[in-house]
Amino acid sequence: MRTAGCPEEKILSFLSSQKAKDRCYRKVLSSMCTLPHPLAVKVQEMFIESNLGDPGLFQGTAEIETLLTEELGSLLHLSGVCGYATSGGTESNIQALRIARKAKPVASPNVVVPESAHFSFEKACDLLGLEMRTVPSDGRYRMDVDAAERFIDDQTIALVGIAGTTEYGVVDPIERLAELALERQVHLHVDAAFGGLVLPFLEDAPVFDFRLDGVASISVDPHKMGMSTIPVGCLLTREESMLCALNVDTPYLTVKKEFTLAGTRPGGAVVGAWAVLQLLGRDGFTRIVRECMDRTRLLIDGMEGYGYPVVVEPEVNVAAFECPNTPEGWQVSRTRDGHMRIVCMPHVSTQAIENFLHDIGEMNV
Ligand code: PLP
Repeated sequence: MRTAGCPEEKILSFLSSQKAKDRCYRKVLSSMCTLPHPLAVKVQEMFIESNLGDPGLFQGTAEIETLLTEELGSLLHLSGVCGYATSGGTESNIQALRIARKAKPVASPNVVVPESAHFSFEKACDLLGLEMRTVPSDGRYRMDVDAAERFIDDQTIALVGIAGTTEYGVVDPIERLAELALERQVHLHVDAAFGGLVLPFLEDAPVFDFRLDGVASISVDPHKMGMSTIPVGCLLTREESMLCALNVDTPYLTVKKEFTLAGTRPGGAVVGAWAVLQLLGRDGFTRIVRECMDRTRLLIDGMEGYGYPVVVEPEVNVAAFECPNTPEGWQVSRTRDGHMRIVCMPHVSTQAIENFLHDIGEMNV
């Protein structure tokens, strides 16, 4: 560490040059995060010092965390939902598997997850000493439920389904998984980190939420399609006892027990997430999600017009293509199978899609 402090201008000038190295979102087509809503930014600043890890000191902030989980719970059809704001999908998925493991303390626990699962499940299984049983997809990038059934045994503590897969934007057959979970008495966790703030605003979306009795917990991330600042995820559980099973004693805090994974937690981002839900309401979200889906359609039609078929028709605003090359200057990503993957987040405007398609066309000449 330096002995004498550095002048602020010098620090800010260094930081500006570092910031200039970051990609601006304009040509980023690979991210599941987006530019935060201006209200989220404003509110984050207002609550910048709030620490949800010691809720007795920040009672107003803590009450808003409850309002946020209640709001998301009602969107996902469970009044009296329990939950809390996590740092994102990874933490929510880890905590969901912790809950499942506590509920079923077997000798050699395993978890049955789809092939398409986000890599956070690999981290969770490693941390928790769980065997991860990966179920192949049905050929349409969705979990093969018949195969999943064969993977479950008396040591299975949880079954996982994805509502809006990271790579192909599809939804696993959650209704069938929920029936299977009830039949085999395993915890069904639905990872809707991405789709949880898309599917509720679409007509004819598949049912993936607490309307299904077999669904025990859900991950849903405001810092993805909820346009909050980073980090805000949410873990929602059907029963309070599920979260309480994770409680540890916290003798020196204003509360005596804590079930969260992180200790100190940022209140500002959480309040910002709630504020954006209030500001936009169902109408605002429906409009934004509709725009993202329309742009996904525009992209698919354009790509197919150039001879690059979509790999599977997506159910959310993520599309993957059989297109080996990437036009200069654009940030796309590649799936495990090497397909070009594009996420039509709110920052990906119609103009951006048109420009991208133009550059794809140029690549062909
Ligand atoms: N689950 C799904 C379906 C995701 O798409 C992602 C991230 O893209 C995650 C979990 C992990 O979320 P985070 O990066 O916020 O931890």
